Amino acid sequence: MADVVQNLAEIRGKIRESALRANRNPGEITLIAVTKYVDVARIEEAIAAGVGHIAENRVQEGVRKFPLLSGNVVKHLIGTLQTNKVKAALEHFDLIHSVDRPALVEELAKQADKLQKQVKFLIQLNISGELTKHGLSPNELPGFMENLKAYPRLIPCGLMTMAPLTEEPETTRPIFRRLRELFEEIAATGDFPEWRYLSMGMSQDYPIAVEEGANLLRIGSAVFK
Ligand SMILES: *Cc1c(COP(=O)(O)O)cnc(C)c1O
Repeated sequence: MADVVQNLAEIRGKIRESALRANRNPGEITLIAVTKYVDVARIEEAIAAGVGHIAENRVQEGVRKFPLLSGNVVKHLIGTLQTNKVKAALEHFDLIHSVDRPALVEELAKQADKLQKQVKFLIQLNISGELTKHGLSPNELPGFMENLKAYPRLIPCGLMTMAPLTEEPETTRPIFRRLRELFEEIAATGDFPEWRYLSMGMSQDYPIAVEEGANLLRIGSAVFK
């Protein structure tokens, strides 16, 4: 079994190098360990090695694993969210990265009202236009953001994207750059006071994502390889 501690040290070193190359403070970048491939014992190893954020791509996996964890971590939902799982998602996760359609917004608002709590989330964009990917297209974003203003309990906090799988990580750079531009455009409106997260970069491309401004990295296989 590969050593999670060593993997994390290597990843943190690379994050730091990329951040410094881009004149960024490495301290503003959060590594989220994507735990969808592993069970509780290995998640605990990562937490023991200093991981403070974990992510699952399916609600049911979080529901199953999170109660078994002894450590206190921030829990992220990074996979597609079906409306019938919204209630469970809000009970078990701290930040949803995958809000991508009006029907989901309506259900989030409904459940937020029931729970009488604010819901923080990111909006997932499909920049590459791949048909297999979820997410809004960039030209849908302004209208989507405008619509969110109607829901006082919904707090949009930033953007998320998945770059296409590719042999050549550099081909993802324009996608990350585009997400960053869209992020800045929304930030410039000043309409969303908690707008601060740019969730991009996975095991194959996180150094590039850091160079392009990511502050939430979703890294799975490189941590648990
Ligand atoms: C699995 C997954 C990741 C992590 O992928 P790795 O290549 O294993 O780092 C990141 N984001 C999402 C949405 C995922 O489903």
